[in-house]
Amino acid sequence: MARHAEIAGAGIAGLGLACQLAESGWTVRVHERSQEVRESGAGIALGQNGVDAMRSIGAFDRAIEGGSQVRYWNIVDQWGRVVQEEHLTSELFSIPRSSLLRALHERALSLGVEVLTGSIVVGVRHGSLLLGEGHEMKGDLIVGADGTGSKVRNALISLGLKVRRIDLKVAGLRACMPAVDTDPSDAMLEWLSGKRRVGLIPLDGKDQVAIYMFCPPEDIGGRKAPIDIDSWSASYPHLRTAFERVPRDSTWGEVWETHCSAWSLGNTVLIGDAAFSMAPNLGQGGCTALQAAITLTQALANSKSVEDGLLAWQAQERQHVDYVQRWSGRYSRLCSKTPAPLLRSRSRLFGAWGRSKRLNDRFAGVEARLVASS
Ligand SMILES: Cc1cc2nc3c(=O)[nH]c(=O)nc-3n(C[C@H](O)[C@H](O)[C@H](O)COP(=O)(O)OP(=O)(O)OC[C@H]3O[C@@H](n4cnc5c(N)ncnc54)[C@H](O)[C@@H]3O)c2cc1C
Repeated sequence: MARHAEIAGAGIAGLGLACQLAESGWTVRVHERSQEVRESGAGIALGQNGVDAMRSIGAFDRAIEGGSQVRYWNIVDQWGRVVQEEHLTSELFSIPRSSLLRALHERALSLGVEVLTGSIVVGVRHGSLLLGEGHEMKGDLIVGADGTGSKVRNALISLGLKVRRIDLKVAGLRACMPAVDTDPSDAMLEWLSGKRRVGLIPLDGKDQVAIYMFCPPEDIGGRKAPIDIDSWSASYPHLRTAFERVPRDSTWGEVWETHCSAWSLGNTVLIGDAAFSMAPNLGQGGCTALQAAITLTQALANSKSVEDGLLAWQAQERQHVDYVQRWSGRYSRLCSKTPAPLLRSRSRLFGAWGRSKRLNDRFAGVEARLVASS
């Protein structure tokens, strides 16, 4: 008889895993608290491991609709110096989040996954997923893919899981906006100025471009909503026309890092931001979630019991995810906490890191790809 999985959360992690499990013969039900499966209007970068995972899931072509392949990226400091850059030999795509989620959702439905919207998970009990109305959904596998505020993870804490959540003290905003001729069409460009950071990523190369902005939460002028165009233009005069295009309803969010003593307990597993949310600096939060969906399914297929499979998967996957999470956090702290007298040293440090091929390959998910396919 087919094994059955109950998944909390129809985000990148939950739908990615649902597709993989269904493809390998599981029956799968996904519970999404929102009334529809959808993502905010923003862009997301898919590094090599994310690209590989989406191909493996069978939803890559649909996911990159409205996006672009990135050939070059750089980071420029406040003195106009390029501190990091790369002409890419690996694959990197910048795409609308909505395309990625739609592609995963459609693929999941085509594989027979049941996706229930308006279905709120409140925890786990006796190895079952517990819903708001008190229903217990039994499964061979229970998955918490319910994001950084995970209810499934909270339930595991009462069963002995140790969790450390770190507020990175960064406010972040991301949005899609109309493109103009001077916007990048195949390059991801990032600028540092003091404790503020801005990036532009291409989408379809003509109509839409995506922007992200970060600043410390105590930067009152920086984190106004709608954004304070004059304040941001004072830091980045050449980006005024970009700031003027940021949708006025864009909001600022917090950034949290999540560290769990284990990603599973019994037949229950955490994946994606629920297990290992990270600073968004390396564009790997979603990619590692997709990669983890592939490796988790493989580990389950190769193990006698679900519990053994989950343990084997963590042993294999954790080293890479912990590494990316650690470096992502370092980047975040350097960007948002370096005091003014040390900014030139920061530029030199970024430059030194940028020259390391090994670091760049690991960050971009290229090395993860080799591990995954070996
Ligand atoms: C500014 C920013 C930029 C980023 N850029 C990139 C990038 O370029 N590349 C990249 O790979 N990653 C990036 N990331 C990280 C990436 O967005 C996340 O790692 C990824 O979205 C995590 O997916 P998830 O499915 O684990 O969680 P989520 O996307 O949070 O999905 C969780 C889902 O669970 C649902 N849910 C929550 N609670 C419940 C409940 N109780 N019951 C039922 N459903 C529930 C939610 O509604 C949601 O649909 C970025 C993050 C930020 C903040």
